[in-house]
Amino acid sequence: MARIPDFDSQVRYAKGVGEKKAEFFKRLGIKTISDLFWHFPTGYEDRSQIIPIRQASPGKKVVVEGKILALGQRRIRKNLSLLKVAIRDETGVIYAIWYNQNYLVQLLKKGKDIVVSGRVGWDFGELQINVEDFELLSGDEEDNLHLKRIVPFYSLTEGLSHRILRRIIKVNLEEKSSYLVDLLPAEIRKRYSFISLKEALNNIHFPENFARQREAQRRLTFEEFFLFQSALALRKKRYKEEKGISFKMKGSLVESFIRSLSFSLTASQRKVIDEILEDMRSSRPMNRLLQGDVGSGKTIVATVALLTAIVNGYQGALMSPTEILVQQHWINLTHLLQSLNIKPALLVSDLPSRERKKILHQIKEGKVKLVVGTHALIQEEVDFYRLGMVVIDEQHRFGVMQRLSLRSKGEYPDVLVMTATPIPRTLALTFHGDLDFSVISELPPGRKSIVTRWISENKREQLYQFIGERLKEGRQVYIVYPLIEESEDLDLKSAQDGAEQLQREIFPDYRVQLIHGRMRKDEKDRVMHLFRGGKIDILVSTTVIEVGIDVPSANLMVIENAERFGLAQLHQLRGRVGRGSEQSYCFLLTGRKISREGVQRMKVMCRTTDGFRIAEEDLKLRGPGEFFGTRQWGMLNFKIADLVRDHQILSLAREEAFRLVEKDPGLEKYSHLREGIEKRFSHRLALAKVG
Ligand code: ADP
Ligand code: MG
Repeated sequence: MARIPDFDSQVRYAKGVGEKKAEFFKRLGIKTISDLFWHFPTGYEDRSQIIPIRQASPGKKVVVEGKILALGQRRIRKNLSLLKVAIRDETGVIYAIWYNQNYLVQLLKKGKDIVVSGRVGWDFGELQINVEDFELLSGDEEDNLHLKRIVPFYSLTEGLSHRILRRIIKVNLEEKSSYLVDLLPAEIRKRYSFISLKEALNNIHFPENFARQREAQRRLTFEEFFLFQSALALRKKRYKEEKGISFKMKGSLVESFIRSLSFSLTASQRKVIDEILEDMRSSRPMNRLLQGDVGSGKTIVATVALLTAIVNGYQGALMSPTEILVQQHWINLTHLLQSLNIKPALLVSDLPSRERKKILHQIKEGKVKLVVGTHALIQEEVDFYRLGMVVIDEQHRFGVMQRLSLRSKGEYPDVLVMTATPIPRTLALTFHGDLDFSVISELPPGRKSIVTRWISENKREQLYQFIGERLKEGRQVYIVYPLIEESEDLDLKSAQDGAEQLQREIFPDYRVQLIHGRMRKDEKDRVMHLFRGGKIDILVSTTVIEVGIDVPSANLMVIENAERFGLAQLHQLRGRVGRGSEQSYCFLLTGRKISREGVQRMKVMCRTTDGFRIAEEDLKLRGPGEFFGTRQWGMLNFKIADLVRDHQILSLAREEAFRLVEKDPGLEKYSHLREGIEKRFSHRLALAKVG
């Protein structure tokens, strides 16, 4: 066999596959021969130990071996037939049972040697085994695939059984695995004592023992992370080579902005601002991720960056994924920049078309210095005069793969990605691994911890009593109802009913007001203005208050049906209280139906107020797919790596990948690796390139 196999050729050319099976394979996402090898088992069963029949005890899963003594077949019902085969070894007899497998009668002949696995039962005084797998022994002991070994199990589809998959993967590994090209650089393989790719693939499918399986898994996991991180490192390197804007630090306006604030910046904010300004000064484009907990003061930091661009004669843009967030950023920035006479423009979809045209025109002419809008708007049709600084409020929505392309007059604007709540480190390294990181690691001084309690419906009376006492002291209260699109009308109704009941029956002497997303903007503004001014005591809301609202004297929050919120959302909501000098409270009320994961979420919320820890717990509870959006996660296509379980391997792989690219930016000495990365990531990288 001299021909070197082409691992990229279609799976139908694999041994034992053919056109018809290839169609089935496609349903599993297996298109090429290498896909076949990278279709990893979802689990294993240790069938290496064969026990004497006498030791088979009912209820246990066992593997036994013996000679076929006799067989009989019987129809039990119309659609159910039973095949019973007596098997004997030196210690006893067991009856192997198959259902609806008539064709086996041709195969299982008296006198043949057989191995079977399954669960042992005891029926009518007979020792039986419900067969899960079997193998006839041909005398060629090497040939055991389904028994007498650690056996792999796969995700399947119609037309492909475990037995078929095992057989096909095995024969193709035997024929081709010697020709596999190992992409991992030899020095790295050596440093971590990794087994070869060939050994790894053989042991991930057909482990010699579980220790070997773990070694294989470690290596393949590392490789998967390493390839991806190498791609990110290359990408990062590449846009560090682009020409960006070299902003001057004129300072005065920015300084006076900072001085105009009613507080002084935290050390952490200062550090992060320095990092950003350093990037802006450099002639390389900035691509930086700004993380900080809810309330840590990211807005100020972003504003400093935008302002620096503006005083240099450039324009700034701030983008958010939802209109509500856009509105709130716009309000914040308008307030912050009022004294400097900078008026941000607001670009949302429901603008009257004349106004919209006017704003677009002003942006193009450079008359507007700062624009706040949704991602889509700015991406699609806005023509900037001289865009210098883009802040993207990421909110977990856009990943590496979909980051916008923006360019103005041949220069790349600086880009700052900002997350509303912290994201787990492993996810940051994966989805934003090509960015530089800045982290605000402290909250402004004087923030009181928030007492959080999870309470059940039957404590509602006591809760209202407690709220009543706080109201008497002059405190204000948020009561939050969930509102999700699928049940918007119902949800809105319960918020309305809740507000009405509170006003009429429970707190008739206080002012209760409802606020929700369907209200007109000026109405919402009016309500918020009243609440801020202390003219409303209880604000009943759907999640419109999630972000941006800042009323220090409101220090009590009740979240109704808290089980319907995700952790990040709960954390954001809770961040609305705890801003004043008084002790704050957050009460999580849950309905009767609460999932086990829901219980965990409530417990996490009560245990900690640290957004970074909450994010880690969130990832553990939901997994990366749910956490970040299944589609986005799916695009990464990790086959074996698990961000929760394998975080240490990720760190190592990242370190190695970035070191390698630093040392050899063109991967000249690592052509296999380079080709492997290009093959896997080139289309995605092109998509993802900022600029
Ligand atoms: P984030 O966007 O990180 O959740 P914000 O930027 O909205 O936080 O800031 C939260 C609140 O804290 C705002 O009212 C802001 O004015 C205030 N703030 C920001 N930085 C400081 C600081 N250094 N000291 C005191 N208050 C601050
Ligand atoms: Mg720069």
